[in-house]
Amino acid sequence: MALLEFEGVNKYFGETHVLKDIDLEVEEQEVAVVIGPSGSGKSTLLRCTNRLEEIQSGEIRLDDVPLTDPDADINELRQRIGMVFQSFNLFPHKTALENVALAPKRVKNVPEEEAHEDARELLERVGLGAQTRSYPSELSGGQQQRVAIARALAMDPDVMLFDEVTSALDPELVGEVLEVMRDLAEEGMTMMVVTHEMGFAREVADTVTLMADGRIVERTAPEQFFDQPTTERGQQFLSKLL
Ligand code: ADP
Ligand code: MG
Repeated sequence: MALLEFEGVNKYFGETHVLKDIDLEVEEQEVAVVIGPSGSGKSTLLRCTNRLEEIQSGEIRLDDVPLTDPDADINELRQRIGMVFQSFNLFPHKTALENVALAPKRVKNVPEEEAHEDARELLERVGLGAQTRSYPSELSGGQQQRVAIARALAMDPDVMLFDEVTSALDPELVGEVLEVMRDLAEEGMTMMVVTHEMGFAREVADTVTLMADGRIVERTAPEQFFDQPTTERGQQFLSKLL
């Protein structure tokens, strides 16, 4: 059984049909990279998974539990699904440590000392053991994004969703963030990753899903996708990258 399942998912913004009959299964420990042109629905797919957007038909299930039911416990779901965006959105007046420890304290009622100890460990894990007391403004974009990843991990999620998390970074800072994501993948985290970083996709992805115009047009192993895409859309997409 897949950990995360999309079945017949349709999403509209007003008249605009943005997700069209999406069927997708993400296995436990899978790194599912999602690529596709701008406007193809990648962010919306992730946002629906976290119930930041509502779908109009179909179902999304986590561990076989429908998370798109009207009576699903959204707060519990969001604890199980970590999300990191292009913009880091750290609290500017809190240190890196406080940013990471905040949700476990507030949402999970983890005692302060324990939450801070966990946060320290997580910051070490993303290579920021020396920056626990730094404020976001004192950190580079790459460091802030790593704090944001640690913050998502602090809730001990089952799945992590990454939406173009390196797109806003200066090129020289991209690698350190991808490195953290690669480590997470190696540790067995289940991940859906929307990215333009094709090197990362090729090396780290278990599957590559190509979206175009609200549909999944191709879903294959990365070797297959990059060496020999089976669809015309896939060939077009790759030829534009070259
Ligand atoms: P991608 O992440 O692949 O670039 P998005 O999921 O952001 O694509 O957008 C898919 C489509 O949905 C686009 O046509 C976009 O204009 C539209 N869209 C996204 N968010 C909204 C919104 N909040 N209201 C109306 N239309 C939206
Ligand atoms: Mg997007």
